[in-house]
Amino acid sequence: VKPLHGERWHMFNIENVTLSQRRIAIASALKEAIECDQLSLFFQPQIYLNTGKVHGAEALLRWEHPQLGNVPPDLFIPIAESSGIISDLTEWVITQALQYQKKMIVLLPEHIVSINISAKDLLRKDLPVLFITLLNEHQLNPANVMLELTESATLFEGVDIKNALNDYRLIGVKIAIDDFGTGYSSLAYLSKMGFDEIKIDKQFVMNIEYSKNDQTICRATCDIAKSLGSYVVAEGIEDSQSMAKLQSYGCEVGQGYFFSRPLPFEDYMQWLEENLE
Ligand code: C2E
Ligand code: CA
Ligand code: CA
Ligand code: CA
Repeated sequence: VKPLHGERWHMFNIENVTLSQRRIAIASALKEAIECDQLSLFFQPQIYLNTGKVHGAEALLRWEHPQLGNVPPDLFIPIAESSGIISDLTEWVITQALQYQKKMIVLLPEHIVSINISAKDLLRKDLPVLFITLLNEHQLNPANVMLELTESATLFEGVDIKNALNDYRLIGVKIAIDDFGTGYSSLAYLSKMGFDEIKIDKQFVMNIEYSKNDQTICRATCDIAKSLGSYVVAEGIEDSQSMAKLQSYGCEVGQGYFFSRPLPFEDYMQWLEENLE
């Protein structure tokens, strides 16, 4: 990221600034981001591979800083997690995503909105209450809301998380394991948690056309999911060959640039309208 000018730039650019100082600077800029309206949610379509029908969309956070420009979530989410600001971000994302969902189901009543949740967020007792409040307020079907959880060391600790998931199960929202195969989770964990959806990370999908290993991993993930009663979403599908491979393994849903990039809400609504049958 190369901002042009501006008073904030010095915080990020001075060469002898330590990594931890940079993290602190980004964390404080993030706090401002919520107040100063620098955040937005983009939506990336998810498609049933067999029918071509729309399954729903994943909400992806975007941060446009006045000097830094677009700061990628892969950079700021980990900082938000370690600095505690993630709880404010998550509340903001959930609130926005459910407001938008209310508009998306007008076009497609069975539309599923997927929201990324940090493992840390799961330990909060107030988030389920926020969900209940918003679901009621907007009269939304909880079964059309999917929480995407990334595997992490915290998730792997198990017991507490399983409890936390029960709160969400009672509400009726669905739970996906995100980035499956890249983190800490074991097969025992998969079986214990009973996820509704398993998301194959794009790192296994990007080269699926050429890599025998990635083919094996994707096929095995689809088989395991089927035996456990979950369905599979593959992300990072960039061409029709990759899509065809995944489809032949029984992967139900696809997401990736082949279908569409993540879009601003208004553009997503237009895309949705054009892609209804
Ligand atoms: P993720 O949850 O694995 O999201 C998928 C990422 O893959 C997104 O990156 C998406 O833009 C990208 N992607 C989708 N299809 C393709 C494709 O065909 N090719 C390529 N090269 N990339 C593709 P993005 O939006 O930069 O987000 C990065 C990560 O930041 C996400 O990875 C997620 O872990 C995190 N994140 C984003 N929004 C949120 C949020 O609201 N809350 C939390 N806690 N994390 C978020
Ligand atoms: Ca995700
Ligand atoms: Ca992730
Ligand atoms: Ca991923």
